[in-house]
Amino acid sequence: MSLAFGRDHLAIPGPSVIPDRVLRAMHRNAPNIYAGPLVDLTKGLLDDLKRVAGCEGYAIFYIGNGHAGWEASLCNTLSRGDRILALVTGRFSLGWVQMARQLGIEVETLEFGVTEPADPARVQAALEADTDKRFKALITVQTDTSTSTSNDIQALRKALDAADHPALLMVDAIASFGCEPMRMHDWGVDVLLTASQKGLMTPPGLAIVFIGEKVWPLHEVATLNTPYWNWKARARPSVFPDHFGGTPPTHHLFGLREAVDMLLEESMEHVWERHRTLAGCVWATVDAWSAGGEIRCHVPNPLHRSTAVTAVDTADGDSNRLRDWCETQLGVVLGVGLKPTPTATVVDTGFRIGHMGHLNPAMLFGTLASIDAGLKALDIPHGSGALEAASSWIAQGLRPSER
Ligand SMILES: *Cc1c(COP(=O)(O)O)cnc(C)c1O
Repeated sequence: MSLAFGRDHLAIPGPSVIPDRVLRAMHRNAPNIYAGPLVDLTKGLLDDLKRVAGCEGYAIFYIGNGHAGWEASLCNTLSRGDRILALVTGRFSLGWVQMARQLGIEVETLEFGVTEPADPARVQAALEADTDKRFKALITVQTDTSTSTSNDIQALRKALDAADHPALLMVDAIASFGCEPMRMHDWGVDVLLTASQKGLMTPPGLAIVFIGEKVWPLHEVATLNTPYWNWKARARPSVFPDHFGGTPPTHHLFGLREAVDMLLEESMEHVWERHRTLAGCVWATVDAWSAGGEIRCHVPNPLHRSTAVTAVDTADGDSNRLRDWCETQLGVVLGVGLKPTPTATVVDTGFRIGHMGHLNPAMLFGTLASIDAGLKALDIPHGSGALEAASSWIAQGLRPSER
């Protein structure tokens, strides 16, 4: 007998749960795209997104998913044959590398395995070894959603500065934006990109790129640039729909306006702290399971973990049946385990819990208790007391150490 009735719950690392407020804001007839509320809200929305990012340059939209932001960032700053340095900490970092190579960019990769973030000392050494300063950019993810490792972006900026290297710092914050701290300008990030469907709690379909002042000289000579993707027209549009290179993404804009209002009403510091607390609850729960079985957090060091998504390792053959059981029997959808290859290959040795965006302890307890029930129902060995650990974590208001 399945119990998957009532409200289902998506606990994957994007798309994330869409708040009712966002759904309601999108539930409307097609608006005028030349004047009226849609036009009025766009400039304010871009300014508020910049507040969320800590950006002092420009914010621009594309009707696209995160991949659109990847391509836009590369094409607006680079030319065929240019060299860049890429930090690889999982499948999403590799995906961006693969795209750069397909564009004809020469990519040198630094690999850090799949359970740790990039080591800033190694990054600094690689930059220092580039004595002719040929690297035009350093590209990295903030959180690699496949491994749930989290890079220390400030430390990477310091590595660039210590090596006295002029490469642009380009950061994919698709999984972390609106969940994990980001202060683009203060941290010296030159290009920051994200998408609407994760911490921004809106359906997939909008990419947002934040552009710092240092990029424009490279932009001027970047021959990969094409008219549709060109930043200039979108950053400084003369008339309204030019922000979008065509018809605006009408309903996404109403939805995202509401979502950004929710973030700013809560305050970004509180949003980040809430994610830290909820992530700590996940880790305490998984740690209790691991005491009696082959199930554990994929990233050993809590300081290296994302607070938006947690990859969980299981014994081979356990993760897919656990995910299936939770979905078909209880209506809770968990994220698949992903192999760290550029194309998404699902593994049966782990799964991922998305804990990003519109989430509170009640929703998270539902996910964790469902997994706990699945481990029991499927006779997968695991330690007991995990739900006790989850509720105690929240009750005590404990949180992982700040970095
Ligand atoms: C989700 C994600 C992507 C891909 O985003 P799409 O919207 O699927 O194109 C890229 N990078 C990271 C870090 C992500 O989490």
